[in-house]
Amino acid sequence: MTILAYGTPAGDQPLDRMEITRREVGAHDVRIEIIYCGICHSDLHQARGEWAGTLYPCVPGHEIVGRVAEVGAHVTSHKVGDLVGVGCIVDSCQHCAECADGLENFCDGMVGTYNGPSADAPGHTLGGYSQSVVVHDRYVLKITHPEDQLAAVAPLLCAGITTYSPLRHWGAGPGKKVGVVGIGGLGHMGLKLAHAMGAHVVAFTTSESKREDALKLGADEVVVSRNADEMAAHAKSFDFILNTVAAPHDLDAFLALLKRDGTMTLVGAPATPHPSPNAFNLIMKRRAIAGSMIGGIPETQEMLDFCAQHGITSDIEMIRPDEIEDAYARMLKGEVKYRFVMDIGQMAG
Ligand SMILES: [Zn+2]
Ligand SMILES: [Zn+2]
Repeated sequence: MTILAYGTPAGDQPLDRMEITRREVGAHDVRIEIIYCGICHSDLHQARGEWAGTLYPCVPGHEIVGRVAEVGAHVTSHKVGDLVGVGCIVDSCQHCAECADGLENFCDGMVGTYNGPSADAPGHTLGGYSQSVVVHDRYVLKITHPEDQLAAVAPLLCAGITTYSPLRHWGAGPGKKVGVVGIGGLGHMGLKLAHAMGAHVVAFTTSESKREDALKLGADEVVVSRNADEMAAHAKSFDFILNTVAAPHDLDAFLALLKRDGTMTLVGAPATPHPSPNAFNLIMKRRAIAGSMIGGIPETQEMLDFCAQHGITSDIEMIRPDEIEDAYARMLKGEVKYRFVMDIGQMAG
């Protein structure tokens, strides 16, 4: 099937409308008419060849929501007309220990929603800036939010699960003091989710202007991290810190805020490494630094259900497909509150 998409033939070319093909629906496949697709920082880095290994043409997009249009003969979990989502994963080996545990995100054979290996033309996966996608049913998520919230659900498929998974894994909940560093696409979800889980939530930002926003998003307190006195007031007090900042920065300033056995988990991937933390900051209170990458399929479904129950969506700004380059430019300047979502219905217009 030939469809329209927004992608680029090379890293130095802007994204533009192009035609791509999707495979015929196989026995375990679901064909989804895409309605909205969220815009993730990874999309920009991949499209512009800023990370090694971008395959062209590149059609980004891994925050996909839409409606089931066709299902294969063996598909029982989804039916035509259902509202569904697809996140960062469209395939995995399905037999390793990680896949058996529902942690497909850590499978060595995990196939990304774009730029992953594929038997389909053009030999790699093409993402959600497109009118439809064909995906194995294992990787298709159910959406139970009200339909009028669908656009704001899209970013949950990457930004939502990327923050939900570490918050759950490290036990954010009642009685726990949780920090969220950085208030952007990821951080704003971290604040909403940690608040809904019942933790005492402290937002860390470098910009005084985000103080009010952070409180509205779910923070109980806001700390401007450039202010040493404000930071010192929270020394040795956190159970867990979720660090969403992708730019290299001083990790020690935050490690010093963890109490004994506290963990700081990094979910932002800097292009150049962070300065090494001072080992004393880890040794003295048995503190840990960890990392986390998106989440597995069962946990992604759990996150969507949790968000539907708690009325959680992303704060979004809608764009037309032909506005994508402007959106990237504004995203780089941190001007979006807090996630762009592409209206795929306007792709043909
Ligand atoms: Zn993403
Ligand atoms: Zn596997």
